[in-house]
Amino acid sequence: MKPPPFDYAAPDTLDEAVRLLAADADAKVLAGGQSLLPLLNFRLAAPSLLVDLRRIAPLHAIERTGDAVRIGAMVTQRAAEDDAELARDVPLLREALQFVAHPQIRSRGTVGGSIVHADPAAELPAVLVALDGRVVVRASNGERTVDAADLYRGFLTTSLAPAEVATAVELPAARPGTRAACVEVAQRRGDYALCGAVVQVTRDRDALTDARVALFGVGQRPVRARSVEERLLAGDPPSGGLVREAALRASDGLEPQTDRQASADYRRHLARVLVRRGLEQALELAA
Ligand code: FAD
Repeated sequence: MKPPPFDYAAPDTLDEAVRLLAADADAKVLAGGQSLLPLLNFRLAAPSLLVDLRRIAPLHAIERTGDAVRIGAMVTQRAAEDDAELARDVPLLREALQFVAHPQIRSRGTVGGSIVHADPAAELPAVLVALDGRVVVRASNGERTVDAADLYRGFLTTSLAPAEVATAVELPAARPGTRAACVEVAQRRGDYALCGAVVQVTRDRDALTDARVALFGVGQRPVRARSVEERLLAGDPPSGGLVREAALRASDGLEPQTDRQASADYRRHLARVLVRRGLEQALELAA
């Protein structure tokens, strides 16, 4: 199908973009278009105006700010994946990006678009939640920062107002001794995951000093696996036994959906298996 008719604007400045959005309640932001254009073509969305952010230069920047990395919302997934410094600073992001769709889609799709599109089966929202990242948001009345824990409300739904633009995503830079992994099961490589896990661990010799685990594809939004993290950080040195025991907790409190692709029980099973595999990979333990 063809999209419904809409007006189009590609402002050069953020001020102009937020002014356009504030002036039209049915206007929508266009980033890479990789999720929005299919929605328009299926007529699941009918905005009066698309405000394309691609000409706003500051939204394409990646900068290190103290202990964090600030990734402009319009940085493409491919550019983020190819940035060696970013891979060193936030290794989990690179791990996860490799599973986002296909290279052609990553060349257009943006980091900010993926984060605010809020697909519960997407990789990057889980990275944001696992790392306690933040999203910087601008509207015509000013700027605010939204913590990952306050961002996701439900399926394709965030706490952002329609006239707000996500301008950057802030992720903490990894400390020395940090390793990360992203593991998932999808029907085909590049499809959205039936279930996936992102894992980041920090070791200081034989002690685990930080452990972060989040799941995607198992409900209405990304889920932090807190009870897995607590078990990992209880003081035992990392080992296969500890990982197996901790991973069994991955399905605690999960309420995944049953759909045509998988039952809720199968998704719970995948959560336990994938968290174990992700931890084994990040901790370089023989499976
Ligand atoms: P758009 O499509 O332009 O926008 C998406 C939504 O976010 C719109 O509602 C838009 O208004 C809003 N938005 C975008 N940017 C901003 C902003 N800065 N501020 C405020 N609102 C904004 N994604 C995955 O994570 N994993 C996958 O496995 C995967 N597989 C895919 C397979 C296919 C075949 C396709 C077509 C897409 C797939 N995607 C997948 C989606 C892809 O990653 C998209 O790039 C991403 O979801 C949206 O990013 P975008 O920049 O294209 O945003």
